[in-house]
Amino acid sequence: MSSTEPFRRGKPLPKPETRMVEDGGDERMVKRATVRRQYCGTGPFDRHWLNLDCCGLFCALCTYALHAYGVYAVCWILLPPWMGVTGEDGIRHLSWWGRLHEVGFNAIALFAVISHFMAMTTDPGAVPPDAKPLPEESSQQEEAIGLLADPPTKKLCRRCRSFKPPRAHHCSVCRRCIIKMDHHCPWVNNCVGIGNHKYFLLFVFYTMLSCLYSLVLIITRFATCHAGRGKAVRHYTCLDHPTQLVNILGLLIEAVLFGMFTSCMIFDQWDVIFSKLTHIDRMKGHTVSGALAGVAEVFGVHDGDGTRCRMDWLSPFAKACFPAQVRDEVLGFCRPVRTPPPSTEMTPVVAEQII
Ligand SMILES: [Zn+2]
Ligand SMILES: [Zn+2]
Repeated sequence: MSSTEPFRRGKPLPKPETRMVEDGGDERMVKRATVRRQYCGTGPFDRHWLNLDCCGLFCALCTYALHAYGVYAVCWILLPPWMGVTGEDGIRHLSWWGRLHEVGFNAIALFAVISHFMAMTTDPGAVPPDAKPLPEESSQQEEAIGLLADPPTKKLCRRCRSFKPPRAHHCSVCRRCIIKMDHHCPWVNNCVGIGNHKYFLLFVFYTMLSCLYSLVLIITRFATCHAGRGKAVRHYTCLDHPTQLVNILGLLIEAVLFGMFTSCMIFDQWDVIFSKLTHIDRMKGHTVSGALAGVAEVFGVHDGDGTRCRMDWLSPFAKACFPAQVRDEVLGFCRPVRTPPPSTEMTPVVAEQII
């Protein structure tokens, strides 16, 4: 199979069209393959990256529902009776403290959901079909003076038939080889690889933060209720209605369960980032090389310093970018050059889908 042929399983595709072209007086046979291009998918020719796995999509919806429930329980059940003030019209409104907590909790939940969406819809680092091995340094010099006889050998993946760079692993759910694949996460319905590792970390971090925030609010309200026993304030801080109790109990279970889960994941990912090794790499017995280089690989490099803390690390809107001249080295493959980028250009780490 040639490197430009589609490898999607299912309906057989039309046979490649063959035609003659003239190239400076030389006639060559050129094969043109017809490819199926979906609006969403994980194929190299699909317009937008999205895993159409039913189980993964269901888990992603559950994640959004859990965050929505957290917002409902905090902003509609927990805060209004506790941090409310009765106005002159006799209606209770949220106090300034209440509004501050409402905005803070909503912002954290929103950042968690946006990070999740970005992690789910970003190409995790799938190897494109026209990828080829990086030329050796000596080969580059030989090529420059026209001495290179044989191109570097191309190791192909047995399952997707694309070039398999040294740090790529094949994912059977995405059906692609992914650069620096950590694992396929059902909660984000995507592989976690070099292209979306930052978004995945932000999703876990903001989810952990919202769980801790809910826990602190629940405990504080309970303590305030306990301290205010027998006083007039008790009516507002304590849970008088059974539906309040059920919802706060639901929020407590959710916060404890997912708070513990995400905290463990953060500690686990800490190791992955600083060792620059994924779970798969560690299982294969690879060794550590350059401790802080892992941070730069996850969050990108700006102004030549990838290890200095930056505010955009916390933003789910900022992509992990690398200077154009080191991107191929980070990915472990190169592609046929169409328009050479300027040396100062910053490019996203994810290889663009073929257009
Ligand atoms: Zn593969
Ligand atoms: Zn995958």
